Amino acid sequence: MPVRRVVVAGAGIAGLTSALALAARGFEVTVCERARVLSEVGAGLQLSPNCGRILSGLGLDAALDAHAVRPEAIDIRSGPSGRRIVALPLGASAAARHGGPYRVLHRADLQKALLGAVLAQGRVTLALEAAVDAVEEGRDGLGVTVAGEPIEADLVVGADGVRSTVRGAVAGAAMPRPTGRTAWRATVPADAAGPLLAAMRTTLFLGPAAHLVAYPISGGAAVNLVAVVEDPHAAPGWDEPADLAVLDAAFAGWAEPVRALIDGPLWRRFTLNAVDPAGRWATARIALLGDAAHAMLPFLAQGAAMAIEDAAVLAAELADAPATPAAALRRYEARRKPRVTKVWQGARTAGRLYHLGRIAALARDAGMAALGGPALLARYDWLYGWTPEEG
Ligand SMILES: Cc1cc2nc3c(=O)[nH]c(=O)nc-3n(C[C@H](O)[C@H](O)[C@H](O)COP(=O)(O)OP(=O)(O)OC[C@H]3O[C@@H](n4cnc5c(N)ncnc54)[C@H](O)[C@@H]3O)c2cc1C
Repeated sequence: MPVRRVVVAGAGIAGLTSALALAARGFEVTVCERARVLSEVGAGLQLSPNCGRILSGLGLDAALDAHAVRPEAIDIRSGPSGRRIVALPLGASAAARHGGPYRVLHRADLQKALLGAVLAQGRVTLALEAAVDAVEEGRDGLGVTVAGEPIEADLVVGADGVRSTVRGAVAGAAMPRPTGRTAWRATVPADAAGPLLAAMRTTLFLGPAAHLVAYPISGGAAVNLVAVVEDPHAAPGWDEPADLAVLDAAFAGWAEPVRALIDGPLWRRFTLNAVDPAGRWATARIALLGDAAHAMLPFLAQGAAMAIEDAAVLAAELADAPATPAAALRRYEARRKPRVTKVWQGARTAGRLYHLGRIAALARDAGMAALGGPALLARYDWLYGWTPEEG
């Protein structure tokens, strides 16, 4: 039976983007979200041009630009000294080179933009308090249970995050594993950000076994802070109150203005798990995407970007061959895997580099400074310049 009705499990970034991309290709989509209300726990998000172009194609430019900031540059600084090592220029020339701007924004602003577009799309139904409980694939099609009731579907998209339920129906799918790191989030008003954070720039502080990223959100009214530390703590919670002793120890000895950023705000802790992209992502009528398929470390700020890219490729493959979904999903997985694997591994490598000890960091910093910002940015042309046509 050709695919017409698609059930998407999860209304996160992956779920809402895939619903929009599939509806734009003519499919009827029901998005089933476990939560009673849609709210974004995390604070900020960096949206690189590779995914920005896709959102632009879905008509979201104006909604994103109403709240996003386009940073002029990424300043990379030493955390212990506060000194700037190098600046990667993100302005007009980088946007021209990569085919779109680099944006930073509050997650809730992206969610609102996606949700507005979804609700305006006649082909998408959004169901809240609608957890996908079970998916079974048999010879005669799919059996899908949502909030205890069966629901008709020709195809299921598992966009239900790192602890995916849908994944259980995909034989050979990889399971989430702890990474030994935790991420800490906080926001501060822009006027309390201190001397090292320039208004229109993203700042990355590197140090032994920890780093800190800061960037403007909410049109520049606030600054989003994300710290990642080596920390074996593994809690099931997504939004835990912080044990400040851990943060305090990780940033001991850092430059005073950076310490002030750590000491001031109210932090929340988040255990980082990863899903190896080598596992299976699809069967004949079930596709996983986003964190459900390949949750990654946040060091390249690409988890959501990869989910958005997945959505575009999945929709294109299904639209090309709605009568043969098994083949379409095989092509989706084959097209996405090499790129996502490269990004997933790149994020791990970046993590090791960011967290080098003091002596090794001297060589790293000297190397980056000698290379210079434009050449360092050019190393990411493969990442930021990607288009869906490439694979
Ligand atoms: C600290 C940190 C910083 C990051 N920064 C960036 C960044 O700057 N840029 C970037 O691109 N990425 C970033 N990421 C990665 C990004 O946040 C994730 O990759 C992305 O949010 C994953 O989206 P998703 O929709 O796949 O999953 P989720 O956001 O987890 O959404 C899954 C949804 O499914 C729902 N759900 C779960 N189970 C069910 C079920 N059985 N039935 C129905 N619904 C269900 C959940 O309630 C949720 O709404 C960062 C990650 C972290 C941890």
